[in-house]
This record gives sequence, structure tokens and C-alpha cells, in this order.
Amino acid sequence: MSISWPPVHSVTVRDDLRALEGYHSPQVDVRIRLNTNEAPWPPPAAWRDAFAAELSRVEWHRYPDRSAAALRSSIAELHQVRPDQVFAANGSNEVLQTLLLAYAGPGRKVATFEPTYQLHAHIARLTGATIVEGERGPDFRLDVDAAIELIRTERPAVTFLCSPNNPTGLVEPPENVHAVLAAQPGLLVVDEAYGQFADWSALSMIDESTPIVVTRTFSKTWSMAASRLGYLVGPSWLVAELDKVALPYHLDAAKQIAGRLALQYTDEMDARVEMIINERERISATLAKLPLDVFPSGANFILFRPRTRPGRQVWQDLLDRSILIRDCSGWPRLAGCLRVTVGTVDENDEFLRAIAEIVQ
Ligand SMILES: *Cc1c(COP(=O)(O)O)cnc(C)c1O
Repeated sequence: MSISWPPVHSVTVRDDLRALEGYHSPQVDVRIRLNTNEAPWPPPAAWRDAFAAELSRVEWHRYPDRSAAALRSSIAELHQVRPDQVFAANGSNEVLQTLLLAYAGPGRKVATFEPTYQLHAHIARLTGATIVEGERGPDFRLDVDAAIELIRTERPAVTFLCSPNNPTGLVEPPENVHAVLAAQPGLLVVDEAYGQFADWSALSMIDESTPIVVTRTFSKTWSMAASRLGYLVGPSWLVAELDKVALPYHLDAAKQIAGRLALQYTDEMDARVEMIINERERISATLAKLPLDVFPSGANFILFRPRTRPGRQVWQDLLDRSILIRDCSGWPRLAGCLRVTVGTVDENDEFLRAIAEIVQ
């Protein structure tokens, strides 16, 4: 049988998606990987054993618990909220997608303050929403007056803040979050993928009558990027809407077990967070002595800009030493900037030695 070409039927992507680029994060085979903000260690060995034991008892021919009740209860307990104030999905990116399907979409606006996590605008665009971009100052701090002005003019259905902000590392002070919340007419989403590394959390602002949600992930602090699990905490009436939008049985049995068991190791995780914060401070202080602009970070990564050489060249020189960091130098508003994830002490030492050689 022959297939005619050009085809009789034309398969064309939605007009609004035609010019859209996908999300790229290059994965290269290297010795030292400090580019995607994961935890540098695997989960605790005891978690692995408990996970394997429970997996062996899963009834694989049955659908998993659709409401993921045990997982939600564990997350609720962790944050001292009710289980019906928790929504979980396949990575916090899917949490964001579900949120935006429910509250953004065609005819609605979504506000971001750039530079910030690219997927906020990207996923919002996929739902057909219009993005309104606010600009941060040259030091990447939120200009609160300009933000409120933008919100008053555009009236977005959803407004994003990211704290600590990826890729800059800046923590949004509570007064900024309160000011944006008060000004915006719809829903405020605070993405706290790196919340554990910061000195405060907007989780304290969650209640049934405030239009704010906080998203979190197991991908970073919990050392579980491979299991794809994230969640939000917010008002129960909002969670009920998200439950309608999520696909049936979207959380598989293994993931529900993995997440629930992980939360039994909070002490280990707190100790790891402390180690990472110590290393972050050590790396920042060492980088600050080199000819680099170093931005203050409340996350598990640091943004910096080489002063003596183009960022792209510095990135390549590191890669030639088999050290991979994130090249943000070509991103809008981030000219020349690079982002390094905090790794193990040895990895950080190697990175610091290499970068000192490269930029001096
Ligand atoms: C890493 C990251 C996420 C996490 O996404 P997952 O889908 O949970 O892996 C979400 N938001 C920000 C800002 C991130 O950097």
C-alpha cells in the first residue's frame, strides 16, 4: 500500500502552539553533575528497604487508591493541615499543570515576574492562557510597586511567585508575598520547590479563606527526582476542583508508597538540608572572592556571573573538566549568568578549584 504525500488529511498543531519551544535541560554524561538542582545523595538506605518490602505486597492487577489517601494524610501531617487541603501529582510540574487547567486557560491571564521558573509561563501557555510578564529589578529583586501596578492593570486569574526563585535563588520576603496576595484578584501560587532551604515559608499563610496555594516537590530535598512526585497545600475547595481536573488514578501505587515512606525520614532530610545550606554558604563565600558577581541564595543552587570572561566560555571550560553546571547565559534577562547546584563536599571542592583556575 502506498501512502500519499502530501496527505489528504492535514494534522496541524493548534495555532497558539506552533511557535512554542519545548522545555530543554541538556543531559550530558559527565563526572560531576551540578546542573538540575537535585539532591547529591540517594534517599536513605532504610527508605529503600521499606519501599522494596511494600512494593512486593502491591496488588498490581488492581487500580491504586484513586484519592491517594494515605499519602495525602502523611503530607497533611507534615504541614499540620487537613488531608483535603493537599493535592498531589506526578511532580510539582503536573501540580502546576492541573492548577492552570483549572484556573487559567483561554481568555484568562497569568502573571509571572521574570526572570523566574520558565515552566510557569510555558505550562500556562499550553493551557491557552495569556501571559503577562512583570520585570524584576537588575538585582533580580521583585519591584513590589511595579508588580502591584501590573496586577491592577492586567487583573490576572493566576499570579506566580517562586520562593526561593529559580534560577536566581532569591527568597521572597513575607511582606512582598502579602502585598502581592492583597493586590491580585484571583489565585496566588507560591512555588516552593526549594522551600526547605529558605528561612521562611508561605505555608503559614494557607487557610480556607485565603486565595493562595504553596507547591512543593519530592524532587529536590527528598532525593526522589526519579519518582516524579509533587504536591500543593491550599484551601479544600480549591483542592476539590483539582481532583476533578486530574486524570483518574494519576498517581501510581509505587509513587504513593514512595512518598508516604519518605516522610518517615524527616530527621535525615533535615540533616541533609542543613549540610546543603552550610555548603551553599561556603561556596557563595568562596565564589565571592573571585571575579564573579554572586547573587544571594536561599536555595540549593547559586547564580553567578563571571566578570572577566563570557559565561558561556566559563561553562564550556568547566564541561571540558567533566563538570556540568547550568548555562543560563543565553536566557532572557540573565546574560552571562551561570547556575551551580550544591553537590557533595568533594564535588563542590572540585567545582571551586576548577572555577578559580578558569576565571583567574
Ligand atoms: C525543580 C522545580 C520544580 C520541580 O518540578 P518536579 O516536577 O516536582 O520535579 C518546580 N518548580 C521549580 C521552581 C523547580 O525548580
